[in-house]
Amino acid sequence: MSTTLGTQFATAVPEMAVAWEAAEVGDPTLLALNEPLAGELGLDPAWLRTGDGLRFLTGNAAEGVAQAYAGHQFGGYSPRLGDGRALLLGEIEVDGQLRDLHLKGSGRTPFARGGDGLAAVGPMLREFVVSEAMHALGVPTTRSLAVVGTGATVHRETPLPGAVLARVAASHLRVGSFQYARNTGDLDLLRRLADHAIARHYPGRSYLEFFREVVGRQARLIAQWMHLGFIHGVMNTDNMTISGETIDYGPCAFMEAYDPATVYSSIDHRGRYAYGNQPGIGQWNLARLAEALLPLFDEDEDAAVKKAVGVLEEFEGRYLTAWQEGMRAKLGGAGDDQLIGDLLKLLHENHVDHTSFFHHLTRGNPRDLVLDLAGVDAWLARWRAEGPDTAAMTAVNPVYVPRNHLVEEALAAATGGDLGPFERLLDAVRRPYDEREGLERYAEPAPRDFSESYQTFCGT
Ligand code: AMP
Ligand code: MG
Repeated sequence: MSTTLGTQFATAVPEMAVAWEAAEVGDPTLLALNEPLAGELGLDPAWLRTGDGLRFLTGNAAEGVAQAYAGHQFGGYSPRLGDGRALLLGEIEVDGQLRDLHLKGSGRTPFARGGDGLAAVGPMLREFVVSEAMHALGVPTTRSLAVVGTGATVHRETPLPGAVLARVAASHLRVGSFQYARNTGDLDLLRRLADHAIARHYPGRSYLEFFREVVGRQARLIAQWMHLGFIHGVMNTDNMTISGETIDYGPCAFMEAYDPATVYSSIDHRGRYAYGNQPGIGQWNLARLAEALLPLFDEDEDAAVKKAVGVLEEFEGRYLTAWQEGMRAKLGGAGDDQLIGDLLKLLHENHVDHTSFFHHLTRGNPRDLVLDLAGVDAWLARWRAEGPDTAAMTAVNPVYVPRNHLVEEALAAATGGDLGPFERLLDAVRRPYDEREGLERYAEPAPRDFSESYQTFCGT
């Protein structure tokens, strides 16, 4: 079997695609393979497991391109980031839609700056399991096709086993891709990039409509994150797609006790990317996209700004609509703003585990999770009076999310050579709404001493 990959990105914007080869992987071991996804892509899982398949999955079979992009990281602008340790191998057409096949941890590229270009087994398996969970939860996301151990050692705080992740995405076009194109001052490049993005994701749309589509998709995406308690952790503009898929699972985590100020990332000292800040940051990032696209909206700058601001201001309404709709679904179709607001206040004040509360509410017994019994009883009485459809709630309130302590446990074991816990966790989160016997510990909150000190790391 051989697979020819498309080169539409590199053809459309060659200035943003540096032809590059992945580092040679001497001793590849397949650690995880997403067979259903392979099937969707028309790739034979049995072939992917062969020597040739592993060469394909590590980029050792063909050249790829390192993509250029810029980005605001924690609010500060970097004109040149790009794929420092990643490569776009090319596009695969599925049902008339292009999907990128992309590698992470495939060696240094001209964008590597000081980095070693490598990735460790733990963080690549983290992306695999969390992105699979997100997909199963119904959240738009990049997917993970495979993680291949390289046999090499990666030096972080300690020596770690290396790995390459093969990832699939609707595209890897980011807000930062447009910032990069705009920053070159080459209007023709910006136009070609936008034309490529529109043809791929929003065919037939004008530039302003394209921007409006991205605003709408991001508003819906972030609302879904909020419903699930997902904290991305590093919402830099280079980590925000224009397809509306979640991308780059680094210091991400699922919130435990409900609190809008929750931050797990060790480098997010000011809480810029705290759980409750995500919608505002989403809009901030979209403002950066608008700035980048401005010359395409109108030749007259004032007119262009006016158009951009008009669309940008739609974010809030679209986010709120999506958020309220989703919250009502979590409550079985019951609940106005007041009932929802009072619930969140109760959860916050009582440090209630977010996932567990909605799961227990679905099953009718959330009382044992809330210290303020009078408060929860009063709230439950108001909620029940509205006649919630608890059967429908099972489809939106997950039993299993990749809980932080279970993810850490699985990655530590995998780093030590035992893939069992990773595989069992993956199995649980791939059917998040389907409560199964024997998986009780996957539905339980982390022990308190774990939660009190839990931190995630960017240096992956
Ligand atoms: P991230 O925070 O993972 O989204 O990455 C931000 C930027 O740092 C991107 O340009 C990455 O390609 C680059 N980068 C992250 N880790 C490494 C590494 N180990 N080697 C080279 N570049 C890296
Ligand atoms: Mg990134």
